[in-house]
Amino acid sequence: MVNVSASTSKIQELSELDKKYFLHPTTVPKAFIEEGPKIIFSEGNGIRVKDIKGDSYIDGVSMLWNVNLGYGQKELADAAHQQLSKLPYSSSFYGYSNEPAIRLAEKIVSLAPGKSSAVFYTSGGSESNETAFKLARYYWSLKGKSEKKIIISIKRSYHGATIATGSATGIEGFHNFSGSSGNDMIHAKGHLTNCELGDKTDPEYEGCIRDVIEKEGAHRIAAVILEPIQGAGGVHVSPDGYLQAVKKLCEENEVLFIADEVISGFGRTGKMFGVNHWEVEPDIICVAKGITSGYSQLGAVILSEELRETLVQTEQILGHGFTYSGHPTACAVGLKTIEIIERDNLVENAANMEKILKEGFVYLQDKHPHVAKTRAVGLLAGFDLQADRDNDVPFEQSIRAAKTVVEECFKRKLILRAADFEVGKNIVAVAPPLVINKQELEEVIGIIDDALTSFEKSLG
Ligand code: PMP
Repeated sequence: MVNVSASTSKIQELSELDKKYFLHPTTVPKAFIEEGPKIIFSEGNGIRVKDIKGDSYIDGVSMLWNVNLGYGQKELADAAHQQLSKLPYSSSFYGYSNEPAIRLAEKIVSLAPGKSSAVFYTSGGSESNETAFKLARYYWSLKGKSEKKIIISIKRSYHGATIATGSATGIEGFHNFSGSSGNDMIHAKGHLTNCELGDKTDPEYEGCIRDVIEKEGAHRIAAVILEPIQGAGGVHVSPDGYLQAVKKLCEENEVLFIADEVISGFGRTGKMFGVNHWEVEPDIICVAKGITSGYSQLGAVILSEELRETLVQTEQILGHGFTYSGHPTACAVGLKTIEIIERDNLVENAANMEKILKEGFVYLQDKHPHVAKTRAVGLLAGFDLQADRDNDVPFEQSIRAAKTVVEECFKRKLILRAADFEVGKNIVAVAPPLVINKQELEEVIGIIDDALTSFEKSLG
């Protein structure tokens, strides 16, 4: 990284322009126009990213769980440059095609679990899930079951920001934002309640996926969508047996199983796909983020053989698509991303780093009494902060435990993410780029250690 920091007047200017013209997503606008941007990023290398003042930060969450190869990957820049120079864009509508999109589709299908057989391209995760919902309903209508329209998702899930995917999202603030809601979207209780595993003694048993299917009638359900490991909702790992149980339930009721692998796809969890941990074969897999490591905007919907076969038998037009479906430059970056993941054994690295991270978590848990429920699957990890972990007692809301610890980390130049959407939950997410090494991961743990000490002092 070149150390060229901007002058104070330039920083001031950008900050004023930002406050005036740029409406930021998932940000409190009133606070933003008072305080201005927290940080203006300018460049990065490896796991580190710099701001325009020249300060260097470790990116402990790969920005939005997407910059999996870290920063400064020249090969990705070259792949984009070459494709931009040759053919920056071409459409995939009306039978038009391009080589990077064709080659990437073949590559994705070769990596995807089970009988995956074709890819529909999008520009990101929300579009992928939105597409999955439409294709699931379309599939059933082609099968003569057009009543099957309901999409079931579970609490604490995050599936996107469009009307339908926002409705599927089981996090209050996103789900209810602006009063927009999609039709035929139902939330069920999730795996934190154990209900799918048949634990009828669980007080939250009512309302699990099985009950929703029974209540609404299987003839009305199109699909169930799940993240194998919930990300934004607080890094909740599916308990063993859960995904298999849901898949079985889906098969018994002619319901499609959609795996939202927007975060967990392409190596993040120490396997190529999150579902590989439980050997479940979804009917549809939605991906985005890690497919290009954030170097370009791309998503994909991977379809099972059965879905593809049904969709290609009809004379009807597939009346769905985006201008940027199969974008050649994005696909060229995707191909190079996967090449690097495979060549540099990054899936394996994520699996190896899980061990280091878990050791670090044990150390943190031993030293800091408020650290609870640590978990890591590959490099998708997190921990809870609790007032009394032995008795499962949460911190008072006003303490803002997760936010405070994340702030303390930020002061020490480590970027992490707080998940405190749910009342009484204070979760800190850790998901560094897959290129991270042991020494760097230990540095991350060291900073969290210091931040926790400072947080504990503030409690008095
Ligand atoms: N699904 C999951 C699991 C996600 O984490 C996200 C984004 N955080 C999305 C879908 C939506 O992706 P995008 O923001 O690219 O539309």
